[in-house]
Amino acid sequence: MEVGVLKRADGSSYVEWGNNKVFASVYGPKEVIPRFLARNDKAILRCKYNMTPFSVEDRKRPGPDRRSIEIGKVTSGALEPAILVEDYPNSMIEIAIEIMQADAGTRCAGITAATLALVDAGIPMRDLVAACAAGKSNDEIVLDLCKEEDNSGQADVPIAIMPRSDDVTLLQMDGILTEDEVEEALKLAMSGCKKIYEMQKKALKVKYGG
Ligand code: ADP
Repeated sequence: MEVGVLKRADGSSYVEWGNNKVFASVYGPKEVIPRFLARNDKAILRCKYNMTPFSVEDRKRPGPDRRSIEIGKVTSGALEPAILVEDYPNSMIEIAIEIMQADAGTRCAGITAATLALVDAGIPMRDLVAACAAGKSNDEIVLDLCKEEDNSGQADVPIAIMPRSDDVTLLQMDGILTEDEVEEALKLAMSGCKKIYEMQKKALKVKYGG
């Protein structure tokens, strides 16, 4: 994890997570365009998640698709509780997540990277947001599925948390799990998030000391 990697963004980061390679950038708080989207009680977040055509094995058709729009939306929802949006009415914070290379778990890597970019942009936050997925593959509950495990996997449970309070800001589930398995997967994903949190703090210390 590296913080402050893009000169012209207000904040930026680069995260390598297994075979995932992700850039995140933040612009703002700035003027809302179009104006009618502005809110007088808080800043709005606009989060774009994009996978480059060369990020996956078969070339991905460029431009937005249903999946990337959904991930942009859930990422925004995962980050907003941690940001003091109420301090910036009538403004907008733009977050761009670029997946340069994808394996699996890119939404978690994206949320993790976007958090670092927000801090780098000087946006006041209640806590960092750390994300990690657990899942089920070969009848076993495992942490952070890779591509093969994800493709042949039976379930995928990405979560994001604010680690100081353990508040969950993202919880999704693909596939089928029993109640006990959900418990186990959540516990495992939570422990993954805590590890990611430590790495985020370390990366921020490298840039900002302390
Ligand atoms: P996440 O990356 O958060 O796990 P998904 O479970 O939707 O999200 O995707 C798993 C993986 O499938 C991605 O990381 C990527 O490697 C691959 N993938 C997703 N969309 C495409 C696509 N349009 N073409 C090729 N591979 C894709």
